Amino acid sequence: MRVDILTLFPGIFEGPLRESLLGRAIEAGLVRVGVHDIRDHTEDPHRQVDDYGFGGGPGMVIKPEPVFDAVESLGVGENRVIVLSPAGRPLTQQMARDLATRSWLVLVCGRYEGVDERVVTGLDAEEISIGDFVLAGGEVAALALLEAVTRLIPGVVGNEESLGEESFERGLLDYPHYTRPRDFRGMAVPPVLLSGDHAKIAEWRRQAALDKTRRNRPDLLPEEREPGRDLP
Ligand code: SAM
Repeated sequence: MRVDILTLFPGIFEGPLRESLLGRAIEAGLVRVGVHDIRDHTEDPHRQVDDYGFGGGPGMVIKPEPVFDAVESLGVGENRVIVLSPAGRPLTQQMARDLATRSWLVLVCGRYEGVDERVVTGLDAEEISIGDFVLAGGEVAALALLEAVTRLIPGVVGNEESLGEESFERGLLDYPHYTRPRDFRGMAVPPVLLSGDHAKIAEWRRQAALDKTRRNRPDLLPEEREPGRDLP
């Protein structure tokens, strides 16, 4: 997979693209990431990328010309342009799975009030949000999306079986995990996990995942269940 990131702050990506899962995936050639400074696509001496918004109001807007120029300079091909925006569709695990099947993503990071709307319409871009909160810029959002997608690319995560066991994969959050020591400051690991009885462990995990989902994300559970119908 090829991913190109367009940003006003390329330095933000230096550490995250070198470390851990992303760093290893890039090193192994499983994903190729290019970071491009939108300012390199300006033509005036001040390298101005933003301007006042038509209609008034506070804040500056990123101009369309340098963003179009940056995207066009990447060459032609089957790319999917994504504009990171709090006003976009909320990113989900299913969306990450779909994006992981694409061969080329272009991620546009906004700043200030965001990018001129013609970037979205003219580049047939998809607007994606990483949550119902407002960041100062799209860089952290682009990294979140990139990491969520990259770990789903075959070969990136060693034990791919574990991917199917995670939160959102089966309509529930993940079950609680424990490791050694068996007793930590008086908090004991649930005895069933030490029993070796795989059927009982599976049932405990299903119930614990359900409890956690009810507590933290009741919106994931259907509001009305038909009486007698099995829970997931
Ligand atoms: N005026 C915008 C609004 O109210 O929707 C907020 C702009 S925000 C201060 C600047 C940039 O940060 C956005 O253009 C976007 O690229 C990025 N951003 C902020 N919050 C985000 C989120 N939740 N998801 C994705 N990108 C976000």
